[in-house]
Amino acid sequence: MNEQKPKINEQVDAIRWRMRHEKLPWRDEIRIIPRWIWGTVIALLGISQIGAQIVHRYTPPRDEPLLAIMAVAAGLALGVDFFLLLFGYVNRDAHRRGMNSTLWTLLAIFVPYLIGLIIYFLMREPLPYGCPQCGATVSARFNFCPHCKYNLRPTCPKCAHVIQPGDAYCPYCAYELKEVAAT
Ligand SMILES: [Zn+2]
Ligand SMILES: [Zn+2]
Repeated sequence: MNEQKPKINEQVDAIRWRMRHEKLPWRDEIRIIPRWIWGTVIALLGISQIGAQIVHRYTPPRDEPLLAIMAVAAGLALGVDFFLLLFGYVNRDAHRRGMNSTLWTLLAIFVPYLIGLIIYFLMREPLPYGCPQCGATVSARFNFCPHCKYNLRPTCPKCAHVIQPGDAYCPYCAYELKEVAAT
């Protein structure tokens, strides 16, 4: 019983558990993208259609019908829009996870072949969550709530391994946990 401090790999497990249980509904996630980006997205689409009209009217007659030019212009604009939204999302998401949002946005934009983006989604920190006792926002890396000292990493009373909220039995020694993990 000399393991009062959770082991590193147990801490990693606890963080992974938090991330797996993050609820990120699409609608709420889209809402974190700043409005000015949505504005730019719509403006770009509009500009692409105006551009298509100008190309159609003021350049020498061509074989493609106006609709085809409009479709190509819309496709280009939507392509740019997609990345604008993605980078906007990375920026706000990194910020709310307490990460360096400027650095991660630049990384996502400038590391080629979308590798920066992939690295971001693999490396991002878990979302802070509410302390079950006092409701204060706590980092998923904390062991105790800094406001009310609530134990955010309950351990099995028998074997002292870290257990997950909601476990009915200790995964290490099968001790019945129902009352311990009431959170
Ligand atoms: Zn608390
Ligand atoms: Zn146990």
